[in-house]
Amino acid sequence: VLPMLARPLIEARLPATLDCHWFTDRDTAQAMIADADIAWADMNRPQWTRAIAAEGARLKWLSTVYAGIDAFDIDLLRQRGTVLTNGIGINAIPVAEYAVLGMLAAAKRFDQVVRTADAREWPTAPPGTSELHETRALIVGFGTIGRMIAERLAPFGVAVTGVTRSGRDGTLTPDQWRTRIGEFDWLILAAPSTRETHAMIGAAELAAMKPGAWLINIARGDVVDQPALIAALAARRIGGAFLDVTDPEPLPGDHPLWTAPNTIHSMHLSGRSTRRMFERAADLFVENANAFVAGRPLRNVVD
Ligand code: NDP
Repeated sequence: VLPMLARPLIEARLPATLDCHWFTDRDTAQAMIADADIAWADMNRPQWTRAIAAEGARLKWLSTVYAGIDAFDIDLLRQRGTVLTNGIGINAIPVAEYAVLGMLAAAKRFDQVVRTADAREWPTAPPGTSELHETRALIVGFGTIGRMIAERLAPFGVAVTGVTRSGRDGTLTPDQWRTRIGEFDWLILAAPSTRETHAMIGAAELAAMKPGAWLINIARGDVVDQPALIAALAARRIGGAFLDVTDPEPLPGDHPLWTAPNTIHSMHLSGRSTRRMFERAADLFVENANAFVAGRPLRNVVD
């Protein structure tokens, strides 16, 4: 059972033995899922995907483009022996590009440049006077996305230190980075939302940041204690925040983060931003479908 949207990108490349059924909306997906062995069940709302997946009693393999798998009932899938593969890596490039965009926007205050142009005013001085060159960034979560951010920052002359759970490849471990926060101009968050990372950046971490340093969050809103962030921004204890993600999402119209000083929002657009991303999702599905039929291991299996 497969999304019609993906048909032009995958149909010709799937194994000939697969009997494909294409769905266009939630109802058609739901009507077909009970008999399916394989499903790429993504709808544009995670809760729909979850509901559809739950009815796939025979599913042997379920594929999702999402990197985070909080939308799925993992216990149910395990009980049924359904293998779940996720989309880690599919949207890493546009997310990493948004992180760099956020840093450039912060250094040049490009948000204010756009507002000034919108008002048809000619400024007397640039609103942002910083350079990325010779600054230092701490990237907490140095996996697929974190490393891509680092690669993109190297040509800008930004010195990067990474943090991982394991401390591999010269990165700092979760108990090492806090004492070093004050050394960095950028605190970039690219770690998953887990029990350990929930509210990992709180009042103490924000207070320890270098004056003028910016927080760049492209991970998940709940990795940062939101009231502590609002307080730090209001008191101008940090330079500012570029927030692709917030808690909650969408932000209600009267939420204080909308009007917090020195805050730039990108409304969780980073991971949804490119056509190439959808092509990568299609490539991954085709690769896994061929592996599945041939009895080979699948890529991106969620353990
Ligand atoms: P990866 O699994 O490739 O990388 C995660 C990294 O975080 C790893 O280096 C891991 O360490 C590290 N990590 C895990 N726990 C901790 C911890 N307690 N402290 C410090 N580091 C930790 O995932 P991705 O890079 O693909 O994605 C990261 C997250 O970004 C996703 O989980 C998702 O929440 C978010 N995301 C946001 C998107 C958006 O639209 N804004 C889109 C896609 C993802 P180790 O290497 O040792 O395991």
